[in-house]
Amino acid sequence: MSDIIQLLPDAVANQIAAGEVIQRPASVVKELVENALDAGATEITINIKDAGKTLIQISDNGCGMSPTDARMAFERHATSKIKNANDLFCIRTMGFRGEALASIAAIADVELRTKKVEDELGTFIHIIGSEVKTQEPAGVNNGTNFLIKNLFFNVPARRKFLKANSTELKHIIWEVQRVALPNPGIRFSLIHNGTPVYELPAANYRKRIVDVFGKSLAQSLVNVDEDTSIVKIFGFIGQPKFARKTMGEQFFFVNGRFMRHPYFHKAIMQAYEQLLPPDSYPSYFLFLELDPGSIDINVHPTKTEIKFENERDIWPIVHAAIRESLGKHNVVPSIDFDQ
Ligand code: ADP
Ligand code: MG
Repeated sequence: MSDIIQLLPDAVANQIAAGEVIQRPASVVKELVENALDAGATEITINIKDAGKTLIQISDNGCGMSPTDARMAFERHATSKIKNANDLFCIRTMGFRGEALASIAAIADVELRTKKVEDELGTFIHIIGSEVKTQEPAGVNNGTNFLIKNLFFNVPARRKFLKANSTELKHIIWEVQRVALPNPGIRFSLIHNGTPVYELPAANYRKRIVDVFGKSLAQSLVNVDEDTSIVKIFGFIGQPKFARKTMGEQFFFVNGRFMRHPYFHKAIMQAYEQLLPPDSYPSYFLFLELDPGSIDINVHPTKTEIKFENERDIWPIVHAAIRESLGKHNVVPSIDFDQ
C-alpha cells in the first residue's frame, strides 16, 4: 500500500490558522494593535476605509523591527515573546503564539514599513497571500506601519459573509475600546473614511472612560479598589439607579486583556442583587491583576477565554469588592426606614 499523508505547504497551513484567528476586519485591528502595545508604543493610529474591507492601516511608535525580524515576523510560530514551553506559564505580553502576522499575510495584501530608532534605514516588505513580492531597505519612520488591503481576497466564502460596513465598523470600535480602556496611558486614534471616531489622549483610567463613552456615563460610576494577596481589583461600577434595560457597557479585564467571563459576571451581578430594577444591567469596568503564573491564556486562539488557577477563591473577592464599593457610596441600604 502506498503512503498518502503529506505535510501541507506553509501557505495552506497559514490559511487554515487564519480561519481561527482572523474572523473579520476587527480581528486584524485587534492583532495589530496588540502587537503595537507589545512593541512598547505610546501612540497608536488606526486608519480604516470601508470598515476595514478596503484598508486597515495601523501605525505605532514602538520599537520597530530589524530587516531580518521584519521578514521572520510573517513566519508561522515566529515570535519574539516566548522562547520555551516554560514561558507559556507566565505570559506578560498580549501576543505569544506567533500566528497573527502569518495568518493575515496568508489572506490579504500586506505592506509593512518598520524601523528601529538606532537603524538609519528601515525595511519595506510587501506580501500577498503568503508570497513575498518585495523586501527592500526604505527610509521610513521609527516604529511600525502596517497596511492591510484586500482582506480575504483568496477566501471568497469569508469575504462574502462579511456584514454591512456599519456592523463591521461596530466590531472594530469594540476592539478599539477593549484595548484603549486598559491602556489609558497610550494615545489612540481611530479614523474611519477620513473622519475621526476616537482621538484618545494619554489619560488616567477614569478620564479614558469619559473620552470613550462620554461624561454622563462616567458620572454614574463609583470606584472599586481591593488588593488581596491573590488578586488586585480596581475600576468602576455603575450605581444601580443608572442601570439600563440593555446590557450596557460591561468590561472585564485580566492583566490588561479583555475577557468574557460568565462566572465572574455572575459574581458582579449577584453583588447588585435586589438593588436593580428587574431586567436591568449595570455598567462596569473592572480590571483584575494577578500573577501571570496563576492563569492560562492559551485556551483559545483569540485569547478571550482564560483559565484561573484559583477561580473559586477569586469569586468571593470580586463579589465583596463590588458590595463594599456599593456600600461605601451609600447605595446598599443597610436598614430601610422609608416604609
Ligand atoms: P506574536 O504577537 O504572538 O509574537 P505576531 O504574528 O503577531 O505574533 O507577531 C510576530 C512578531 O513580529 C512579534 O513577536 C514581534 O516580534 C514582531 N512584531 C509584530 N508587530 C510588531 C510591531 N508593531 N512592532 C514591533 N514588532 C512587531
Ligand atoms: Mg501578535
